[in-house]
Amino acid sequence: MTNPITAKIAGISRLRMETDGPGIRTLVHLSRCPLLCRYCLNPELRSGRIGKPFTTEQLLKELECDDVYFRASNGGVTFSGGEPACRSDFIEQFRSICPEHWTIAIETSLNVLPEHVEQLAGCIDLWIVDIKDLDGEIYHEYTGVANRRVLENLRYLAEHVPKERVLVRVPLIPWYNTPADVQASIKVVEEMGFKTETFTYVTEPEQSPGDGKPEYIDLLGDLVDPKAITDTHPEGERKMFWKKFVERINQEMPLMGIIDFNMTEGDDNEWD
Ligand code: SF4
Repeated sequence: MTNPITAKIAGISRLRMETDGPGIRTLVHLSRCPLLCRYCLNPELRSGRIGKPFTTEQLLKELECDDVYFRASNGGVTFSGGEPACRSDFIEQFRSICPEHWTIAIETSLNVLPEHVEQLAGCIDLWIVDIKDLDGEIYHEYTGVANRRVLENLRYLAEHVPKERVLVRVPLIPWYNTPADVQASIKVVEEMGFKTETFTYVTEPEQSPGDGKPEYIDLLGDLVDPKAITDTHPEGERKMFWKKFVERINQEMPLMGIIDFNMTEGDDNEWD
């Protein structure tokens, strides 16, 4: 193979089932993301400074020990992030050298240049798309950027990729959208012919019985005055509470999943 392509990989998580595609999967986190989601679970990955450079050949060698699981379960590799679609060159080359029976999935926001989606269209077995919300204002408030490219890329997938290869996730995003907003997004996506799935980014815990104090207050320690949080409290302050709640989660659980090697910082940047 000429000119092996390199990408910065922030973590590899093995033996995953059910959430990242069919069979037993290995999740590969590619570094860097152009969005600024308020509830991001991997904020360290956004800058692209964290990670270890791998060529496609090195990644293949690293994952060869998983082949027995992939072969037995119709599993494979799921590229996640950060935003993996921005490294379509790396993923396409990896697909060309990995065993044919490995299935390749991608977890993406689709908020990338259309040429990345076009490059990946022929080599991804399952697209898992988190569209956030299709309402432009909600999307911008939650991610800090516009969603024009998401819609363009969804339309491209609708025309060029078998529908069964695409799963669109439509989250309920506390304090940013409502169940009615979620249903509005689902309607548009399903009219395009895609399967959808809903989930909640942060679920408001149950009120604890007795004193009426929400039990999740205990998770926040001294961040807020528990007396300040009630169901009748002004929305603006409840919104601030949830932002602090998620910031605390980000501090306590900076990276989800099992990371196999130490993350390193570096100045080299393969971002295009
Ligand atoms: S798309 Fe994912 S990695 Fe990027 S900012 Fe949003 S949650 Fe974080």
